[in-house]
Amino acid sequence: MASIFSNVKMGPTIEVFALTKRFSEDTNQNKVNLGVGAYRTDEGKPWVLPMVKTVENQISADMTLNHEYLPVAGLPAFRTAASALILGKDNPAILENRVEGIQVQGGTGGIRLTAEFLKRNFGSDVVYVSKPTWGNHKTVFSHAGFSQIKEYRYWDAKNLGVDFEGLKEDLQNAPEGACVILHAVAHNPTGNDPTMDQWAQIADIIEARKLFPLLDCAYQGFATGDLEADAQVVRYFVKRGFELFIAQSFSKNFGLYNERIGNLCIVTKTPDVIPQIRSQMEIIARTMWSNPSHHGARIVAMVLANPAYFEEWKSQVATMANRIKEMRQMMFNKLRQKKVPGSWNHILQQIGMFSFTGLTQDQSRVMVEKHHVFMLLNGRISMAGLTTKNVDYVVDAIQDAISSH
Ligand code: PLP
Repeated sequence: MASIFSNVKMGPTIEVFALTKRFSEDTNQNKVNLGVGAYRTDEGKPWVLPMVKTVENQISADMTLNHEYLPVAGLPAFRTAASALILGKDNPAILENRVEGIQVQGGTGGIRLTAEFLKRNFGSDVVYVSKPTWGNHKTVFSHAGFSQIKEYRYWDAKNLGVDFEGLKEDLQNAPEGACVILHAVAHNPTGNDPTMDQWAQIADIIEARKLFPLLDCAYQGFATGDLEADAQVVRYFVKRGFELFIAQSFSKNFGLYNERIGNLCIVTKTPDVIPQIRSQMEIIARTMWSNPSHHGARIVAMVLANPAYFEEWKSQVATMANRIKEMRQMMFNKLRQKKVPGSWNHILQQIGMFSFTGLTQDQSRVMVEKHHVFMLLNGRISMAGLTTKNVDYVVDAIQDAISSH
């Protein structure tokens, strides 16, 4: 007898997770995973931050802790500390009680909560995302019911940099009230951020067009190794007086990928609207996950609250960022030494975890199918997957992919 589900169709595969699966099943000894955006050591292994381990040991030894439900909006100490981390603890918005944090399921949870909130409380139906953008932005907003998912130009494939004129023109044409997702630091997938002068012009347009900025901040600390420097775009927008949300993720900078830890930081013009916004956010959270999980939030809160732990964690974030920067430099040097066609300057100009190599879809396919170098077909590689041991192999594969297409 046929199942009542027999009409259910296969959906499209989720590229980055499909790549990881293929990578783990691949028996080729040279295989390299440059797909997933997760930090790896120079041995190609995941890294549990020693600071996280220390705090986890403390948590497990503490017999007074329990597994009671958290409030719907999450762990208060985490929400306050996370908001202070991105805004700076002396930010006037915090001092004037114009900030709230809601604990969410990673950066993704913050983006989804924003979409659900805007749809219900703002009558919002239009969102603008960069072209290209992180693979989940469009789908999160469309699943939340946004009917108009628009793109603003971002990547200039010819010049391998930001298409700033295209970006401005597209945002200038956006309708009033549209939500605009901005990558707060280390744009995914291109690794190219606007300059501060360009950010000022973007802010002018957002202000003039009355758009609503959602700052997606998944890489604080990863771009430069400095948490403050990587927060400067967010702080600039707050200083300009925008009402905005920031979807903060602690997946990368704490290495807590599967703990799903995020904070949706809400900044308003006046404190009086905060309780209402929080109450609407709580209603949405209650229907989606009811209340968030405790473990990761506890880790982040304990580290951020303790000055000695905070310093240690900062140096571990810098360790990750610096290894990525070294791999960027090493890859560039080898591409030049081996005379692989192209200037490859863009590899050095890009920041953060990813590099948009400029490889075409066909060339990227050669990387995956022939050389077992797993990467996205749009040409994105995760620099964190490169090591001193595999960089030669990867560069040789690039050379072959380019010469064969
Ligand atoms: N936003 C961007 C730009 C990202 O790159 C990512 C993760 O790769 C996310 C959001 C999602 O972060 P999380 O894994 O914490 O949900």
